[in-house]
Amino acid sequence: MTEATEAPATPKPTRIAPIVTLDSKSFWDAADREEFVGQKCGDCGQFTFPPRPMCPHCHSLARVEVKLSGYGTVHSYTIPRHPHPFGFKEAPVVAVILLDEGIRFVSNVVGVTPEDMKFDMPVEVMFEPTMNQHKLPVFRPRSTR
Ligand SMILES: [Zn+2]
Repeated sequence: MTEATEAPATPKPTRIAPIVTLDSKSFWDAADREEFVGQKCGDCGQFTFPPRPMCPHCHSLARVEVKLSGYGTVHSYTIPRHPHPFGFKEAPVVAVILLDEGIRFVSNVVGVTPEDMKFDMPVEVMFEPTMNQHKLPVFRPRSTR
């Protein structure tokens, strides 16, 4: 009798799945494919982020999805310790990332200790799994280009 060899169990994701709305669906669908996309106005060409039905600059309803570089810097950050955030073993670094495209994006910075966090730290996007088989864009430190 042979024993079945099983791959070591990968821990289940503990991050809460994103709340997908009609306007944000294309963003989250792209994230599930590990693509980081933004939305530009189809008329004036300015970024409209987060995704929304109408351009806040010229009120156009024309929208264009564009791939983002995934590069940015830490604009600001905090470490919410109390109450302990659900789904995290350690309190996460919650940061406002200033993307190279000029968009401010709220996310987590991973792979760095709170002591090593710095303003203007260069970061790049990566994706972490969430519950219900979705993926979430987070950022990790990168060396300057
Ligand atoms: Zn516009």
